[in-house]
Amino acid sequence: MIPFIDLARQHESIKGELMAALEGVLRSSRFILGPEGEALEAELAARCGVRHGIGVGSGTDALRLALAALGVGPGDEVITPAFSFVASASTIVMTGATPVFVDVEPATFALDVEALERALTPRTRAIVVVHLYGHPAPIDRVVALARARGVAVVEDTAQAIGATWDKRPVGGWGDVACLSFYPTKNLGACGDAGLLLTDRDDVAAHVRRLRHHGDTGRYHHVELGYCSRLDEMQAALLRVKLRRLDAWTDARRRLAARYRTLLAGLPLGLPGEHARARHIYHLFSVRHPQRDALAKALADLGVGTAVHYPLPVPGQPLFGDKDERRFPEAWRASREVLSLPCFPELTDAEADEVAAAVRTALERL
Ligand SMILES: *Cc1c(COP(=O)(O)O)cnc(C)c1O
Repeated sequence: MIPFIDLARQHESIKGELMAALEGVLRSSRFILGPEGEALEAELAARCGVRHGIGVGSGTDALRLALAALGVGPGDEVITPAFSFVASASTIVMTGATPVFVDVEPATFALDVEALERALTPRTRAIVVVHLYGHPAPIDRVVALARARGVAVVEDTAQAIGATWDKRPVGGWGDVACLSFYPTKNLGACGDAGLLLTDRDDVAAHVRRLRHHGDTGRYHHVELGYCSRLDEMQAALLRVKLRRLDAWTDARRRLAARYRTLLAGLPLGLPGEHARARHIYHLFSVRHPQRDALAKALADLGVGTAVHYPLPVPGQPLFGDKDERRFPEAWRASREVLSLPCFPELTDAEADEVAAAVRTALERL
């Protein structure tokens, strides 16, 4: 069996350092808002070229607090791609604002900038742009459009830490960027955790308050806040992993290149990589019109796969928009995409086996 992902391999390789990090936190007995979290915030902000990092409880909370700190609320519209993880849009609803979906580009699943332009209205308050699968969206064009209209940009960078657009890290382009450290993300915690990045002092100060009960210090609660902090245990573990992130990203990119060579010429859509983008392959998703049959054939051959995602966001029961003509590319993607195993510890021999299994499976369809 070749698993779709195997986190045990990663943790085995750095077990000593992870245990030492946990012991350090236990010994200090500072568990919430302490030096590990502050160090992680500074390290990630520096990587993305912004001045502030603010650790929170999850990537979802990062999005929710980002929108709240930008003043998004009832009566506002927020534009977001129709093909993403649900949190890119559900967090808009949580603020009381209305999500306005736009279709995506078929090659990279980035939001379609022309569709974005058409969707802008006087009520548009923000754009949540998603760097899906680890491939950057055309963030320069999104930011230029937004700036011209006085609209805020939130980068959903949950899947794209380490990716660049025009050699500049994603997460440093918009007003705010949101990271997720969900365990399977490229930089994954051992539990839930997330972080916001911003160059804006006002947003940083507001998020620091919102994550901690609207407190300005010493039990002085000036507004309705939340309880959403990145704890010291997770921060300490993440700092150990962050030291490996570049090597892990290189390993993912090598695997992706290997798949491209081995799968070339097959009747299968391979992931696009824009000339200006550095893709970090959080997911290596191929496309095939008979996706479910392909996944079944691969399972029979002992290869684990996953579908990200089986429905476009507006088509989720939560939103209930079944009109496929509105977002044809998102609907087509949701029927065709299939993520192959692509994690840093996957061996070349295993990647070769996956590719051979894909070849066999396609012949069986
Ligand atoms: C994982 C993810 C999130 C949410 O992050 P959590 O840490 O799971 O809350 C948001 N957006 C995208 C695109 C994601 O992949």
